[in-house]
Amino acid sequence: MADMKWIEEQEAKIPHGKVRTRFAPSPTGYMHVGNLRTALYTYLIARHFDGTFILRIEDTDQGRLVEDAVDVIYKTMKECGLDHDEGPDVGGPVAPYVQTERKPFYKKYAEWLVERGHAYYCFCEKTESEENAGEFDRADDPCRSLSAEEAAARIAEGKPYVIRQRIPREGTTTFHDESFGDITVENKTLDDQVLIKRDGLPTYNFANVIDDHMMGITHVVRGSEYLSSAPKYNLLYEGFGWEIPAYVHCSPVMRDQHNKMSKRHGDPSYEDLKAQGFLTDAIVNYVTLLGWSPKGEIAEQEIFTRAELIAAFDIAGISKSPAIFDIEKLKYFNSEYIRAMSPESFAAVAEPYIRQSVKNPAYDAAAIAAILQQRTELLTDIPEKVDFFDTLPEYDSELYVHKKSKTDKPGCLDMLKKMLPVFEAIGDWNDENVLKAMTDMAEAEQCKNAKVMWPVRIALAGKAVTPGGAVEIACILGKAESLRRIAAGIELLEKSV
Ligand code: GLU
Repeated sequence: MADMKWIEEQEAKIPHGKVRTRFAPSPTGYMHVGNLRTALYTYLIARHFDGTFILRIEDTDQGRLVEDAVDVIYKTMKECGLDHDEGPDVGGPVAPYVQTERKPFYKKYAEWLVERGHAYYCFCEKTESEENAGEFDRADDPCRSLSAEEAAARIAEGKPYVIRQRIPREGTTTFHDESFGDITVENKTLDDQVLIKRDGLPTYNFANVIDDHMMGITHVVRGSEYLSSAPKYNLLYEGFGWEIPAYVHCSPVMRDQHNKMSKRHGDPSYEDLKAQGFLTDAIVNYVTLLGWSPKGEIAEQEIFTRAELIAAFDIAGISKSPAIFDIEKLKYFNSEYIRAMSPESFAAVAEPYIRQSVKNPAYDAAAIAAILQQRTELLTDIPEKVDFFDTLPEYDSELYVHKKSKTDKPGCLDMLKKMLPVFEAIGDWNDENVLKAMTDMAEAEQCKNAKVMWPVRIALAGKAVTPGGAVEIACILGKAESLRRIAAGIELLEKSV
């Protein structure tokens, strides 16, 4: 007998009247790009409609549990600014928010569904593979037609059983998805899936419907791999007499035209992208646009603040065609975000990368960050770009030859020899004075500034490409080290001209 008093109490707890969405990850230990996108859309729909955003942990599949995996979910959501209003850590009116803590609920609802005629006790022994394949002939299942008394008698005898969904044999089921429209399937193609297993635990397909209902979810946002289960979900909602939520199934994020992104095949997760030097804000912005496009005046806009995304986000803008993840495009977003940061914020995120190669504390990380900011695509590119500060690399004197600056080795040697005493004479070693020393020299020599600056920069850095020019590098190195490097440049050139 269904526990109607308990069910009524649960039904009374369900919040109504506001949009309620949930992100329902399984703790796998990392956040797929596709999962992150689902989380973002779920969050944005809730925030756009001034609704409630819920985190539910779907851990029924114990085999997939990875230690600390739930922490990865919390950490990612926090970093990405996806603050949930209800969830395991913050509680809420329809707690608990962890599926394994909800175990007792499912059977009670399944028993009620049996009474309503949309599920039945099944005592047949079926192997797991028969079950999963859904290959058995449903019409032959003798338990489907057992009377309630007979089933009760077998249960009383202690016979093990599962509870199956009673799918109508005739007719069709239609469900509506916000992106995919109406989809109709023949009921005969659907199997009487197990709702409650022999051990009394729910199957995922049942738990998920019960949870969404009990939590008052109005919009179910999830990956399109669940599309094929949606008709069965609808029949469950109908069997209970419940309102069906709006479905928003999102097409997969693809690596290329034919393959889904997959961690197993080496595609990056959110954590991997972070480790590769991408900023969270850039990842979030890019991933939001993977499968959603703004309309109207902002159709061409690419960089969005969080507030702009919340205001602009609409379900109609979600595409049903799969999106291709393009790392080059993400790099572009990353450099845009880096450029737009305040110098202080950039210095804070860049410092650990700078210090990977610049160990000398005399070299100011903030000053190095300042020369990097406009030229950095990935944070992980930084150590290699600034390695010359600590140690002047051994370099080829050919670097002094530069067509565009009209420099050759004898000219550079001459210029460095002239600049050395001028630099030595500078009392206050700062940007302004170092620059003036070089521009005054160009004027005196009646040449372009580049003809002075090229050899100085090569002598200071020993590299053709550097973040920052001669002035900035000289100031970061300081007077003594700059003079030493220029003298070393002279020595090198003297040997090779
Ligand atoms: N736990 C499911 C997953 O991680 C989510 C399914 C859903 O959102 O309905 O794929």
